[in-house]
This record gives sequence, C-alpha cells and structure tokens, in this order.
Amino acid sequence: MAPASSVSQKGTRHRVVIVGGGFGGLPAARLLGVKAKKEVDVVLLDRRNHHLFQPLLYQVATGMLSSGQIAVPLRHSLRRHKNVRVELMTVTGFDLDRKVVHAELPGIKKTEVPYDSLIVAAGCGQSYFGHDEFAFYAPGMKTVDDAHELRRRFFGAFEMAEIADDPEERRLWLTTVVVGAGPTGVELAGQVRELATRCLKGEFRSIEPSSIRVLLVDGGKEPLANFGDRLSGKTATTLERLGVELHMGARVVGVDALGVDVDLADGSHERIDAYTVVWAAGVEASPLAKALAEASGATTDRSGRIEVSPDLSLPGHPEVFAIGDMMSLNNLPGVAEVAMQGGLHAANTIRRAINGEPPNPFTYRDLGSVATIGRFKAVASVRRLRLSGFLGWLVWFFVHIAFLTGFGNRLGAMIRWLRAMVGRGRGEREISTAHTGGDLSLPEAVRAEVQPNPYPRIASARAAMEEAQKVKRAATGPAPPAGDAP
Ligand SMILES: Cc1cc2nc3c(=O)[nH]c(=O)nc-3n(C[C@H](O)[C@H](O)[C@H](O)COP(=O)(O)OP(=O)(O)OC[C@H]3O[C@@H](n4cnc5c(N)ncnc54)[C@H](O)[C@@H]3O)c2cc1C
Repeated sequence: MAPASSVSQKGTRHRVVIVGGGFGGLPAARLLGVKAKKEVDVVLLDRRNHHLFQPLLYQVATGMLSSGQIAVPLRHSLRRHKNVRVELMTVTGFDLDRKVVHAELPGIKKTEVPYDSLIVAAGCGQSYFGHDEFAFYAPGMKTVDDAHELRRRFFGAFEMAEIADDPEERRLWLTTVVVGAGPTGVELAGQVRELATRCLKGEFRSIEPSSIRVLLVDGGKEPLANFGDRLSGKTATTLERLGVELHMGARVVGVDALGVDVDLADGSHERIDAYTVVWAAGVEASPLAKALAEASGATTDRSGRIEVSPDLSLPGHPEVFAIGDMMSLNNLPGVAEVAMQGGLHAANTIRRAINGEPPNPFTYRDLGSVATIGRFKAVASVRRLRLSGFLGWLVWFFVHIAFLTGFGNRLGAMIRWLRAMVGRGRGEREISTAHTGGDLSLPEAVRAEVQPNPYPRIASARAAMEEAQKVKRAATGPAPPAGDAP
C-alpha cells in the first residue's frame, strides 16, 4: 500500500521520515523499502528532485559528463519500493516533542510531516570561513547548478579571451585560480588544464588555449594532504607536469572581480590577477544540524555538525538520527562512505527497535579514498595500499562505476570517459545563462515578465548581505580574520 501523503495523519504502520536523498538518505530509504516493507511507511523529503553523485560534479563543470548522468531522479530510484513516498519539500525545522518535521515548498505550501522515526541527512554546504562576500566572485561546487555555473565560467573565459583586443584583458581571462587543494580543487585544476591542452586544441584563432594559467592555492603544505606525504608528493608532481601552478602555504585573504589576495607563509603578500576564481575550500553543515541541536539540546562542532550518540541517534531521542556530512562522531570524515554506512545503520536500528531489539553502536569500515589528477592518473589510498598513476586510476574507475546510480549512467559515463581520455572530445560544452538572466526563446514582452533582470542583482544582494553581517556582528562580535581561510 502506498504511504499516506505528508499532510495526512499517522496510520498504524511505523512511519519513517527521511530528510535528504543524498548518499546517506537514499540507502536508508532503499533498505527500508526492501527489508521493512511489511511494517514501515517511508516519506523521503528533499528540496531537489534528484540524488546527486557529487564526486563527479567536476566532470560536468568541465564538459565531460552531462548533469543527468550524475543526478538521478529520486522517485525513479525508489520506484520499486511501494512503501516509499518521495516529496519535493524544503525542511525548515523540527518539533521533536510533537514528532513532526516542518516543511515547505517555498511560496506554494507549508506543512507538518509526522513521524515515528526520523533520519536527517541534509549534508553540508560551502563555507567561506566567515567571508561570504567572496562568493560573489568565487562560486563553489556542491550542486548541479554550481557545476553549470562553473562550466559557463570555464568555457566562457576562453570565448572572452578570443575576442579580447587588449592583451591584459586576454591574460586575465586566461588565468584561473582554484582555492583549496583537497580532492575537489585538485580534480578541477587538473581537468581545466587537460581541457585546454587536449580538448580545445586548434579550435581558437586568436588565443592558444594551452596558454591558460591554472593556479591551485592552499594554506597547507601540499595538495591532498589527507592522502599522506607519499601520495601528496606524487599528486604535486603530476599536477606540475600538467601545467598546474601550485601555490602552497598561501592563504587567500581576499577575493574580488579581478583576482585574489594571498598571505604567504613567509609573511609576505601576493596579488593574483584572474577573472575566474573557484572556491573548493571549506564546508559547513546544513543549517538543519543547528535546528536539530537546538530542538534536542545536542551540541555542534566548529563546522556546525551535530554531535550524535554512538548509534547516530540524538541524545535523549533514540528515534531521531543525524547521519552523513551533517553529523559529528569520532572525527569521522565527511565522505560518501560514512554517509552511506550511516544511512544503512540508522535504517537497521529502526528495524531493530520495531522488533524490540536494542541499538548497536555505529562502526565505520574505512574502504579508502581516491582522487583523479588527470587522464588515466589518480591516487588511491586503500587500507595500507598506496597507489598512484594508472593503477590508482583503475581503482578510481571501478569505485566510480560501482557507485554511480543506474546502469545507463554507468554505460554512458564509460563512453564519455573513453571519448575524452582516449580521444579528445567532450560532449557537454554548451553553456547556459538561464540563472544569470537567461536565454529563453521568448517574445520580448513575455521575457520582460518572466526574466525582468538580465543580470544577477549583485548590488541588492550585496546590500542585503552587508546588512545581515552587521546584525550578526552586533550579536556575536567581529567576524574571524580573513586569514582563517586557506
Ligand atoms: C565536489 C565534491 C566532490 C566530492 N568527492 C568525494 C569523493 O571523491 N569521495 C567521497 O567519498 N566523497 C566525496 N564528496 C563528499 C560526499 O559527496 C559527501 O560526503 C556525501 O554527499 C554526504 O552525504 P549526505 O547524505 O550527508 O549529504 P548529501 O549527499 O549532500 O545529501 C544531502 C541531501 O539533502 C538535501 N537537503 C539539504 N537540505 C535540505 C532541506 N532543508 N530540505 C530538504 N532537503 C534538503 C539535498 O538536496 C541533498 O539531496 C564530495 C563532495 C563534493 C561536494
């Protein structure tokens, strides 16, 4: 029987509400859809209609994959689980005493969703280390739209350089700064260089795409610091061979439309002029972590993650679980495996509770980490095994094929990789301006109604942000110095 709509009252079956259909929420919904279909109804609430495979966002940004290949509709993924209902809703808060989730579809509907058990897996967002004003010029990469925006900037920069008359303008369009040398920054920087040197070769008349400078800037000692010295060293060498300029020990203290300001380890200051800046530096837990902490009395850590009990439930609320990137337990990293295993653990704990069994503590099985650096080159750290180069890439390949959702997407991704890595082609190079004003083929009068602002309203957004910062400062004291950024 299909579970009742969120607006209806609870029935006799145990009702589980899952917030977020990402790496944590989707496996939980699937497990309850298979193993608990007789006794449980599930409502999965997500503000997006898709499950996103974030580790491959950089390939969407650089034209290798389409967004549809890494973003699968949640209701399609869960179509066979008749006891699971998917609703497009933004969750805004919780009433843990009344056991309801507050949700809305902004401007359309507000509702309360009742639960017997609740799993919250809302992930994390980009952190600018107290300097949200950097975001005006340096977008991050967390969503499908972020990847499209970066694609617009990467490919658009080559177009602008091609038609620039002034050599200085051209130089600025042909300089890209990537802030943050973790896996996302390393993968992006390597891909932009490969794009320029392989895919775009011979397509322009005024510029040589391979002359693009890509600078990877980070406050740490070396790229991919979490992979250990040996693999970090290999990563640095491979990046340099690709033509990426490494600026390690360099903390970004300012970002504007014309570039970034950097404090160096020796105390000196550097200005890097660039028209394209990408923020791949910090993360911050979903605001729902704070909302849950306030509702339950739990604490949050520096990144805003909620501290959970050993079984991933909230203190005093054994029926409420926080999993994945938004929770903090035993210094577990914010990676997909922690979220997936956490989702399965929470779902199993709910099944055990229904059968009158006590919860078990969550034990994480570390399956290792991988990151690509370039064509057929990756680093992989699996238990004691440290692999780099082609062997590392093979591990990367099998891990990504295994975890990508849907047979069609796996096959499609393999064909695209073959085309881009053996050949030079990238099939997804179109750039869209929909979110910056739009290119809809509408009659002018209709366009004026639908898209009245040809460009993002930066001035009013900036004023609103400055006002918000003033209020925040008055309440909490001054923001941390910009030097906290990497
Ligand atoms: C660019 C990038 C590359 C990465 N690469 C790797 C990698 O190579 N390997 C690795 O292990 N990990 C990687 N990660 C991290 C990995 O993606 C995360 O650890 C994982 O997604 C966490 O799962 P989660 O379920 O906690 O959150 P998510 O997967 O982010 O899911 C959160 C879900 O909650 C929904 N949501 C959020 N707020 C609300 C709300 N208020 N109401 C309703 N729904 C909401 C979102 O729409 C989303 O669907 C990468 C992350 C990024 C951004």
